[in-house]
Amino acid sequence: EAPMLEVKNLETAFDIDGTFYNAVDNVSFKVKPRQIVGVVGESGCGKSVMSLSVMQLLPKGIGKIKAGEIVFDGINLEKMTEAQINKIRGKDISMIFQEPMTSLNPVFTIGYQLEEVLFNHMKISKKEARQKSIALLKSVGISRPEKIVDEYPHQLSGGMRQRVMIAIAIACQPKLLIADEPTTALDVTVQAQILELLKSIQEVNDMSVILITHDLGVVAEMCDEVIVMYAGKIVERTDVETLFYNPKHPYTTLLLGAVPKMEQEEERLSSIQGIVPSLTNMLKVGCRFANRCPKAMPECLTTTPILAETDYGHEVACLLYETSKPREGVR
Ligand code: SF4
Ligand code: MG
Repeated sequence: EAPMLEVKNLETAFDIDGTFYNAVDNVSFKVKPRQIVGVVGESGCGKSVMSLSVMQLLPKGIGKIKAGEIVFDGINLEKMTEAQINKIRGKDISMIFQEPMTSLNPVFTIGYQLEEVLFNHMKISKKEARQKSIALLKSVGISRPEKIVDEYPHQLSGGMRQRVMIAIAIACQPKLLIADEPTTALDVTVQAQILELLKSIQEVNDMSVILITHDLGVVAEMCDEVIVMYAGKIVERTDVETLFYNPKHPYTTLLLGAVPKMEQEEERLSSIQGIVPSLTNMLKVGCRFANRCPKAMPECLTTTPILAETDYGHEVACLLYETSKPREGVR
């Protein structure tokens, strides 16, 4: 089966004081139809930049795709004009963000904002749009949708607002949904409800989903495949069971070992010593994880590991594995 999304050798660079640095560096992966792919890593590892690249939503003049291909459902997104991408974005691919980043507009009603998406992508009457908006609110588990449709975002709880965001994102039945930390800002009970909702919507709509999260508990519950990113690169990629039972990259092992504390989700990953290198501080050669890696060897500072299959369907970029050592003609 052809992939729904294929990212090939993506390099996305950001301008810092006149020099472009790669925030996403030679990243390749596929998302199959109906698959939920988790992207994990600490903040600053390039997860969000990667998804903004796919959506062609990089900040103008600051971030740019330097190299690579983004093939969605057989078409190259990185070659599209703004007008072409606008037809796809919000319709065939949509995105939901963490609550503080939501694009809900405080001055318009929920119904207005849902109808706007419908009008943008469908030939539909005002009356049909309103009916469809109410049905969409109902489908995301909002009770009394006839009332909520005329309310404003500030009248709703955080969980309700995230449900509305999901309703907007699925309004045109996208083939791919990108969810960037969709539950991070919500309390634990609401988180669980929203994840359950996402999973059932994925099944009903046959969507592919990219789920970006710093929370491995979320990954375990939701995902089929997992991509682990560190400092702009993929360091491990495999199915969810293998990741938990047979992790191979020392960074993954550390992520898994970070003790979950229910009340302090945010602190989970920061219990790993050290910090992700900033864009201007990344090593040009060698492994970017070397300064934090408990298994680092001298060669880790001089040789850049290659992401390669160690076992079928299990890719790792670490010099502890023969497959990651550079050979001629491979980078
Ligand atoms: Fe650690 Fe070296 Fe592997 Fe990097 S390449 S993760 S430093 S062992
Ligand atoms: Mg992020």
